[in-house]
Amino acid sequence: MASEKIIPGSENFSDWYNQLVIAAELADYAPVPGCMVVRPYGCAYTWWCGDSEGEQKVKEETKATTRCIPRDQPDGVGSCNYCAEPATEKVYFARAY
Ligand SMILES: [Zn+2]
Repeated sequence: MASEKIIPGSENFSDWYNQLVIAAELADYAPVPGCMVVRPYGCAYTWWCGDSEGEQKVKEETKATTRCIPRDQPDGVGSCNYCAEPATEKVYFARAY
């Protein structure tokens, strides 16, 4: 993929996103059709305030939704990655392929 040109996101957002994730080696295609494997350094917790309207906006803008809310949460309060409001949970967002 290193020498292939990534299409513009304005042309086809889904294809652009997939190409970008593969080129950045954040994920790779799985042997099961329609599935991708997120590499260990391809994901991270993000602070999330839990607001369902904000989650819907993230979904509309990125097609990603919350996929996992780990039981083992950090102490403290962070800033929601979407709206910057105080957040006490970290969650994983991901897109389905
Ligand atoms: Zn928020």
